[in-house]
Amino acid sequence: MKEKFYVTTTIPYANAPPHIGFALELVQADVLARWNKIKKKDVFFLTGTDEHGTKNYQTAKKQGLSPKEFVSKNSSYFKELTNKLNISNNYFIRTTDKKVHWPGVIEIWKKLKEKGDIYKKKYTGSYCSGCERFVTEKDLENGKCPDHPNLKIEEISEENYFFKLSKYSNEIKEIIEKDEYKISPTKWKNDFLGLAKEGLTDVSFSRNVKHLPWGIPVPEDENQIMYVWCEALGNYLTGIGYPDKKYKKYWPADVHVAGKDMHRFHAGIWAGMLLSLGLPLPKELIVHGFLTVNGKKMSKSTGNVVAPLELLKKYPADTLRYFLLRVIPFGDDGDFSETALIDRHNNELANKLGNLVSRTSTLAEKYGIEKNPNTLLKQLNLKKIDKLINNYEFDKALNEIFAFIDICNEFIQSKKPWETHDKKILYQLVHSIKEIAKLLSPFIPESAEKISEIFKTDNIKKGEILFKKI
Ligand SMILES: [Zn+2]
Repeated sequence: MKEKFYVTTTIPYANAPPHIGFALELVQADVLARWNKIKKKDVFFLTGTDEHGTKNYQTAKKQGLSPKEFVSKNSSYFKELTNKLNISNNYFIRTTDKKVHWPGVIEIWKKLKEKGDIYKKKYTGSYCSGCERFVTEKDLENGKCPDHPNLKIEEISEENYFFKLSKYSNEIKEIIEKDEYKISPTKWKNDFLGLAKEGLTDVSFSRNVKHLPWGIPVPEDENQIMYVWCEALGNYLTGIGYPDKKYKKYWPADVHVAGKDMHRFHAGIWAGMLLSLGLPLPKELIVHGFLTVNGKKMSKSTGNVVAPLELLKKYPADTLRYFLLRVIPFGDDGDFSETALIDRHNNELANKLGNLVSRTSTLAEKYGIEKNPNTLLKQLNLKKIDKLINNYEFDKALNEIFAFIDICNEFIQSKKPWETHDKKILYQLVHSIKEIAKLLSPFIPESAEKISEIFKTDNIKKGEILFKKI
């Protein structure tokens, strides 16, 4: 039987179209999915949208839409992004899906309750009376609600259900310390362990329906609606069929990909829920940083939010994928700018890769190729590239692949096959490029496919221009 590989992204909140940061998460997960397919694994890749919550409910109302219409509209933008970015996900889960998501989440709740890990308690939180909802620190700017800067954020209390995360605190810390549930890169593991040092506290898992009118009702308590943690995190199970036992084919997840604002929930609450359910923990959580735009933090108020769907109207998917994977070091923040994207496209994709393919295919079509030992290909360090991809250092892997492309370009320049018509030299180039195409296929799948097509048989026909200069 094939070894399985299950990879997920987080599910972004469907209150607006996607921004560039999520595109980064998608392409990182996609590289892993495609790479493991090359390794002949049975890959399942899940993404989707998180659609409940008061914010969606109220924004929908303002726009004169039903909550379901509103989230469906936004969810469709995320789906469109996965298509346009050439993401190879097997399924797209929506938390409003009553057939796929709800039954699994209700089952999870019941199991946590049976275990004695759900109890009722008074919850006190920050509340914006303008938004009519509980807000978190993340929603606020300088302690004020950005939509209602004149209103005071109040502390209000209600009775709701809590999950006994504290019960699992020591176990979680131990598992993470030992890398049994590995957090990469290590700085994010240490960050979580620092947060968890004093012990993890119990978390509120529901809200009164007055404060959360749009969500999955708590079983046997119609006045309570499940809060995001308990509900949305469950998608990693419901998306592969839970509670139907077919989920066992892919669980535990091999890799959860998440942003640095999400790792604590995945390392803490999600691990606690799984321990309570008696299920195996994911093998690894990989954490990516945020993107700034031209050196500045993206924010709605400064109006510098970059929408990947807009970029994809102007640039090929492979160009955007290449840029995101090439310039952002694993686990760190990175900067997005269109100038830098165009530079990478022109200098690396068009000049280096595009030219190599074009010159080689033109000459090979003209003069043919003849088999001989490939000394050129020997200079490609496959082991190193494999290791870098397995360590999620995609930027360095691309660096290595492009260093070999440079070697190929120098080789063609020094051997001058246009003068010598040397079929043996052309053979070495052709077979080196085939290997390059295979290595690049997780990163720039469409272009890699075109290159493979050109060199599929020894009867080579030069193809169209791969990367038009911008
Ligand atoms: Zn507000």
